[in-house]
Amino acid sequence: MNVFADLHIHSSFSDGTLTPEEIVARAVQHDLQALALSDHDSVDGCERMAASCAKAGLEYIPACELTAEQEHEELHLLAYFMDPTDPAFLEKIGQFQTVRQNRIREMVSKLNRLGMPVEVQRVFTLANCRAPGRPHVARALVEKGLCGSADEAFDRFLKRNRPAWVPKFRMCAADGISLIHQAGGLAVLAHPGLNHSDECIPVLVEAGLDGMECIHTKHSTSMSEHYLEVADRFGLLVTGGSDCHGRTKNGPLLGTIHLPYQHVEKLKQAVTDRRRRPAVAPAPDSYGILFQD
Ligand code: AMP
Ligand code: ZN
Ligand code: FE
Ligand code: FE
Repeated sequence: MNVFADLHIHSSFSDGTLTPEEIVARAVQHDLQALALSDHDSVDGCERMAASCAKAGLEYIPACELTAEQEHEELHLLAYFMDPTDPAFLEKIGQFQTVRQNRIREMVSKLNRLGMPVEVQRVFTLANCRAPGRPHVARALVEKGLCGSADEAFDRFLKRNRPAWVPKFRMCAADGISLIHQAGGLAVLAHPGLNHSDECIPVLVEAGLDGMECIHTKHSTSMSEHYLEVADRFGLLVTGGSDCHGRTKNGPLLGTIHLPYQHVEKLKQAVTDRRRRPAVAPAPDSYGILFQD
């Protein structure tokens, strides 16, 4: 029997709309047997996801999606098999959550100054999590009838360089990779096809990158083939996922990506091998420095 995984999913613990239980129920219908919940800057959903997977007989993989930058370009790092209770990891993502919450306040202030009467408390209530983001601001704008859709909210106000956009602090990619490694995890470059260019890849590999998300909903077939070739060239592990955010306008993306389980096996082997080697400590003068968008 063929076994499949989806290693990139967001829940209501970040900017997705489905609970971990709803994700698992849908995954069963779509013949997925291994799942990674990869919420932005949060592992708060991990316990419920693990319990729900166990109940349904699915394999659960701890994960998280972090925002970083390389040469001033934003990129996303996926952490896999890190210890979601690691104190240093939790402290760092706690800082990212605080940054997110402050950013929401700033975005709402900007919207208010633009004559858009959204309330910061309403955004936090809609978000109902410690890692709020722009999609929650968009939902508040739509709820008030100030925008017709989330897309409109992003296009008019929330996208980079739009009037309510606020830059987000982000760590440099090498620090992100070290952070993931010290928590016992593997660092994977998320959706490289959505990045500005491939120029960052050799630098990330040098910094210890373990894998690349070659398969992603927004990758065309030729893009996936290209990144499979790049991953092979640099000796990187291959991952893939839907990046499902739940109930969006075309329905949940869960079930659109079926990553063959052999890739999960390779990840597990790599994490076992990594744990046998001592973690490389980050340079003391660089660790923890945050750069602005
Ligand atoms: P943030 O982490 O607060 O910067 O928000 C980024 C998230 O916003 C992404 O993960 C997507 O879920 C969502 N997003 C980004 N661009 C758009 C867009 N144009 N329309 C709707 N959602 C978007
Ligand atoms: Zn998101
Ligand atoms: Fe992402
Ligand atoms: Fe994502």
